[in-house]
Amino acid sequence: MSAVDGLNDVRSRIAAAAREAGRAESDVELIAVSKTFEAEAIRPVLDAGQRVFGENRVQEAQGKWPGLKQDYANTELHLIGPLQSNKTKEAVALFDVIQTVDREKIARSIASEMEKQGKSVRLYVEVNTGMEEQKAGIAPDDCADFLRFCREELGLSIEGLMCIPPFDENLGPHFALLRKLAGENGIAKLSMGMSGDFETAIGFGATSVRVGTAIFGAR
Ligand SMILES: *Cc1c(COP(=O)(O)O)cnc(C)c1O
Repeated sequence: MSAVDGLNDVRSRIAAAAREAGRAESDVELIAVSKTFEAEAIRPVLDAGQRVFGENRVQEAQGKWPGLKQDYANTELHLIGPLQSNKTKEAVALFDVIQTVDREKIARSIASEMEKQGKSVRLYVEVNTGMEEQKAGIAPDDCADFLRFCREELGLSIEGLMCIPPFDENLGPHFALLRKLAGENGIAKLSMGMSGDFETAIGFGATSVRVGTAIFGAR
């Protein structure tokens, strides 16, 4: 299957899942995850009209996206991988959305870079819903305090919450937990669901799904 066939297939599955959940198709945004694929593999998907993309590495994104953004107007790029503070400057310059705000140090560093560059980037807080040792993200119990810190101490506006649940578990409770935390903290957007589970996530209220393999093929 070509990436464009994959894109069309994923779009119609999103529409069907939204319908089934009694939601409008336009409530669910598709983030096409293009990590590990080169610019030439991404172009056909841009030509097919997709404009929202996700990358998980700042340096890799720097190698392909400045050129693609120049060629395709209104492209929106989301950082969905961990951010190191020595890469904040580049991340703020290149990305439109950073979904992986997960600790005070990185929040501070993003706030100061946005001010320096006079650029505002949309922000999501990553929540470690599975409390996995090796995974990034704020613990669910610390989410409210961390959001307060971002908003009150740093003056940041946090648009959404994001999670990457454990792979081997029933995912419903993780998606439900993210939605509950968002509701409790006045947050409207939920980034959850990947190739294997985006339909389930839409049922639990995902407002964006991050889909790579089902569009571009195996990495
Ligand atoms: C790679 C990645 C995705 C996409 O995963 P697929 O299973 O290929 O759809 C989604 N979210 C994050 C954070 C990723 O790193």
